[in-house]
Amino acid sequence: MNSLDAALLPELDTLRQQGLARALLRVDSPQGPHITIDGQSLLSFASNDYLGLAQHPALIAAAIDAATRFGTGAGASRLLGGSLPPHDELETALASFKRTEAALTFGSGYATALGTLGALLGPHDIVLLDKRAHACLVDAARLCGATLRVFKHNRLDSLDRLLQWADTRRQRPHGAPRSPRVLVVTESVFSMDGDVAPLRDLVALKERHDAWLLLDEAHATGLYGPRRAGLADALQLADRVDIHMGTLGKALGAAGGFICGSRALVAMLVHRARSFIFSTAPAPPAAAAAAAGIRLLQSPEGQSRCARLWDNIGQVRHRLTALGWPLPDSPGAIVPLVVGAEDDATALAASLRQHGVFVPAVRYPAVARGAARLRLTVSAAHKPEDLARLEAALAQVPPPPRPPASHA
Ligand SMILES: *Cc1c(COP(=O)(O)O)cnc(C)c1O
Repeated sequence: MNSLDAALLPELDTLRQQGLARALLRVDSPQGPHITIDGQSLLSFASNDYLGLAQHPALIAAAIDAATRFGTGAGASRLLGGSLPPHDELETALASFKRTEAALTFGSGYATALGTLGALLGPHDIVLLDKRAHACLVDAARLCGATLRVFKHNRLDSLDRLLQWADTRRQRPHGAPRSPRVLVVTESVFSMDGDVAPLRDLVALKERHDAWLLLDEAHATGLYGPRRAGLADALQLADRVDIHMGTLGKALGAAGGFICGSRALVAMLVHRARSFIFSTAPAPPAAAAAAAGIRLLQSPEGQSRCARLWDNIGQVRHRLTALGWPLPDSPGAIVPLVVGAEDDATALAASLRQHGVFVPAVRYPAVARGAARLRLTVSAAHKPEDLARLEAALAQVPPPPRPPASHA
């Protein structure tokens, strides 16, 4: 055995003993409500393609057309090779969708976070992050070198204390080129709990302290608002969010990530966001599919798909509550079935799979240790009979854990 493997194998063993072993499943069908694994057809609640757009003929046609006209790959970073029409058209569509001056796309949402925080913040600055923010925001906050403080999940009192502390450090340090910047980073809909940030009060709070806000709408874009543009738009707060972030890979049915905001913000990212500068431009078919997804979202069909999604969410919540599963107060497409122990979560996922239903188990480090769960995502593409089948399968597997005794 070589020394690399000799070092890695015991570590993999430890992960297995902790109930944290992982293996990639091979899916032999398109990702959708019905997938095929090992020859077994499964009803899937694993995809973030909330509106079923990744299989939509309009997006597929846009991707094929772009591949025919511009090829399968962009070949270089846009700073070297320039932008193609699908990139420009996508960014124009994004800016108008989010009602901002400008937009910039990246290879992924993950790369968007790393590039953006790194472009705007440095060692003299401060980033205030929600405790349950996505790993890409955590990594971005660490990598940019700013002082990182974490506030309690969705707790404005906790954020307020940190903003007050940050206010005491706003003086320009001796010899520093500028005074410290303070950036609040959070999500509008959280990726593992499906709950919603108290956005209206959060925006007012960051304004009182003259801090900036980056809002990641990865799980809200496509689901909220009259044009499905996200929660900030739904609450008419879009112009008070400094930096809108999102992914093109979930409800938009394509791939990539984006920032929407002012022209100055986008210009600065083009100069400084390393994951934009040193990375090949998004593939033309992916960019064209995303632009088609944005058009579709805002169309009557987008509206009816979104309405169907919310109807499905209501039905799933109703059925799960009847089976005794405690659900978050704020309804959303992400429904966490919190089990607790890592092994219990994988065992529950395995028994559901035996009943033909695929709901992925989520464990540390995606969630805290001991907070393992099944992460069930509802799609507009689920049919009423799919939801009935989910309920029937859940009725045949171990019931939800008893809630801990209340101290009320
Ligand atoms: C999925 C996700 C991302 C990353 O987006 P990708 O395009 O998949 O890299 C960022 N933030 C949140 C909250 C997410 O759930």
